[in-house]
Amino acid sequence: MTAPYIGRFAPSPTGALHAGSLVAAMASYLDAKAHGGQWLVRIEDIDVARTVTGAAEQIMETLRHLGMQWDGDVVWQSRRHDLYRRAFEQLHDYTYPCGCTRREIADSRLGIAADGAAVYPGTCRNGLAPGRAARAFRLRVPEPGQSEETIRFDDLWMGPQIQHLATEVGDFVLKRADGYWAYQLAVVVDDAAQGVTHVVRGADLLDSTARQIYLQRLLQLPTPAYMHVPVVLNSEGEKLSKQTGARELDLDQPLEALVDAADFLGLSLAPPRSLDQFWNDATVAWEKLRRTLPKLPA
Ligand code: GLU
Repeated sequence: MTAPYIGRFAPSPTGALHAGSLVAAMASYLDAKAHGGQWLVRIEDIDVARTVTGAAEQIMETLRHLGMQWDGDVVWQSRRHDLYRRAFEQLHDYTYPCGCTRREIADSRLGIAADGAAVYPGTCRNGLAPGRAARAFRLRVPEPGQSEETIRFDDLWMGPQIQHLATEVGDFVLKRADGYWAYQLAVVVDDAAQGVTHVVRGADLLDSTARQIYLQRLLQLPTPAYMHVPVVLNSEGEKLSKQTGARELDLDQPLEALVDAADFLGLSLAPPRSLDQFWNDATVAWEKLRRTLPKLPA
């Protein structure tokens, strides 16, 4: 008997589903279907400032319209603060208050982490300077050379990965200056609470994975399998998002939107006549494509 498979799609409700987010949704959905597994939907709406009213409902409606039915109830991060608080408290020995502003961190010139944020220089590691108030709470990462400083994992799409937490990321935020729980904490707590075994998402989150694995180890949570699929870029080479000019999907032509996303993932399909046919063919094509993974760089 094979182990149960639980996958998920975890959109931030900052706008409607677009061609880029559909690719991530489709990859996670197909991987779950190909394994006879469950596919969960989680709305990542803890960052109230970025949440657009009605966007979550619109995303769910679009998924249904495209024939992507999730299993169980949709989980909303905005209703789970207690879970995140508990995990944060469990990490007490590893966290510290930080009074630095973004500008001060940028000025330290330690460099830019892979995700574009500045590497934290550790200014508040040994206590806040006199007169400084706590803005955020950070998690202490191990020093270079200490065990767990180097996180390795095998990405199902991208192949072997390695990240040095101290030099490439630095101590990272768990509770933000605006009071919100950081994405890294919430995602780790939720993936574990929902029993997620496979995280299939866009490659823009590849750099976050080492942090998430480190948190899982500290919280004694299992590490799921990870697959990061290529992200759709606009003509400027930026990840497609509402901010970078992604257009809403044309829901009058659901098959076209689906075929475009499948094409992008490298699935070759005969022109489908119905949603059912699309999903059946796409699942078979996905199983075939999966046998060619990982796609190691040439
Ligand atoms: N909420 C994140 C996003 O929309 C995805 C998080 C994840 O899949 O881990 O980019």
